[in-house]
Amino acid sequence: MSRRRRIYEGKAKVLFEGPEPGTLVQYFKDDASAFNNQKKGTITGKGVLNNRISEYLMTKLGEIGVPTHFVRRLNMREQLVREVEIIPLEVVIRNVVAGSLSKRFGMPEGTQLPRSIVEYYYKSDELNDPMVSEEHITAFGWATPQDIDEILAMSLRINDFLLGLFLGVGLRLVDFKLEFGRLYENEEMRLVLADEISPDNCRLWDTKTGEKLDKDRFRRDLGNVEEAYQEVARRLGILPEGGPRDMKGPATMQ
Ligand code: UDP
Repeated sequence: MSRRRRIYEGKAKVLFEGPEPGTLVQYFKDDASAFNNQKKGTITGKGVLNNRISEYLMTKLGEIGVPTHFVRRLNMREQLVREVEIIPLEVVIRNVVAGSLSKRFGMPEGTQLPRSIVEYYYKSDELNDPMVSEEHITAFGWATPQDIDEILAMSLRINDFLLGLFLGVGLRLVDFKLEFGRLYENEEMRLVLADEISPDNCRLWDTKTGEKLDKDRFRRDLGNVEEAYQEVARRLGILPEGGPRDMKGPATMQ
């Protein structure tokens, strides 16, 4: 962190100017927020874990041909990413009823959906991320019909892949949120997966016990939040060496 120029500060991450043009450094904070910033807190070590988890998942997705903004992890809390123009949409993919879907339709959490559902929300804190349809997205010029087709295809492919990956380590991928960006390269534009994939934006339930291992532990005051994030990293086989104690010291802040 530090000497680089700060480009943007979000709730859980900071973006700094990268070492080369067209790159950014994404710094993962321990800050947590929920309900559009009404609830705030700190989850010790979260930034370190999310940096690792997102690196792992983005790398795996890259290996199956999903284009992403991820370049490489730089240290405990930072990763180098390609600079993209973020499409102002939160793309939510759902496999099981939970959260706002459960509230909106009065369906019990945990109901398996007959097929995956993709929803779009307009990214706006002031408006509380309202849900939007393809009609809104194209009419307001946030993305073209062709962009939406591509985003939908990529989202379903990512979902298929992550469902299997998490199932293999005893986790049910209930739902998750993705963001996409436009990457400009040699006069061409392509859409790539951006932001992060971590327990901050996924719901992950233990397949056997149903235990929640994601940000709902923070949102709903269930306790053991750090432990849940650690458990996800542990199951993926990527808990940082030295374990949790390694995550607080100044050595991690370079
Ligand atoms: N999500 C997110 N950021 C948001 C809203 C939702 O990462 O601003 C994720 C959330 O973690 C969950 C999924 O998207 O995995 C679906 O969230 P939902 O619409 O149920 O909203 P919530 O109940 O979290 O308010």
